[in-house]
Parts: sequence; C-alpha cells; structure tokens
Amino acid sequence: MPIRPENRHRYPADWPQIRARIQARAKNCCEQCGVSNHSLGGRLRDGRFLHAEAKEEKRLQLVWPEPGERFWCSDRSIGRRELLRIIRIVCTVAHLDHVPEHCDDENLKFWCQRCHLAYDARHHAESAYHARRAGRALEMFP
Ligand SMILES: [Zn+2]
Repeated sequence: MPIRPENRHRYPADWPQIRARIQARAKNCCEQCGVSNHSLGGRLRDGRFLHAEAKEEKRLQLVWPEPGERFWCSDRSIGRRELLRIIRIVCTVAHLDHVPEHCDDENLKFWCQRCHLAYDARHHAESAYHARRAGRALEMFP
C-alpha cells in the first residue's frame, strides 16, 4: 500500500532505512507468494504468477508488453503459455497491525499488491465483524 498522505507523519524518520532492511530480508521478493519485486507478467486464477514473454526483438532490444495489455505469459514450472492481463509486481512493506509507528521487524512484511490486499481484506472483514458485534452489544446494553 502506498503511504497515505494523512498517515505520513506517523512513520518514523528512519522509515527509508527500515524499509530497505525489510526488503533485504525478503531478498526483494514477496514474503508471502515469493514473486520477485518488479516482475512483469500475469496471474492465473489460482494466483500463480507467470512471467510475460517478450513481444518482439527490435534492433537487438526485447520489447515487453505494457501493464494492462493481454499478452502471453509462461513459466517453466507449468510448461504452457497463457494469455493473461499483464501486471507489474510492486512489493511494499506492510504493517501486520496497521499501526505505522510500530516498526519492529516481526510486525513488517514485504508483500506484493495481491498478498497485501488479501491480508487487508481479511483484516477489514474482521474489523467490520468486531465493529458489528460491538454495535450489537451496545444495542443490547444501551
Ligand atoms: Zn505476494
């Protein structure tokens, strides 16, 4: 997740160093699904990432598809090609407890967009559940 402007002041002054340390720990790959940061490719329905194939070679330079286009992707592990929507993997550092001030290593994860969103969706669903429960409790005991 990009840092929201309203939360920027909550990050410690040495955030760039913290971020770099977590990125190095993760060897610049998502700590959940293992995809390399800045990879170009597409995801199968089951979430597996396939690397984009080059479109052509022009003057000894490979031409790659752009994010948003549909193009052929493949991976040695599955041994076939798939026509997928191209994305660029961008890993960011996530706070497991969503508290920007809490920068202990065990609270931080280097995650791709997909893993970050999946975690946040679960967290938001749980928060909404607890908020609803709390709301009901207030209705029962006003
Ligand atoms: Zn991931």
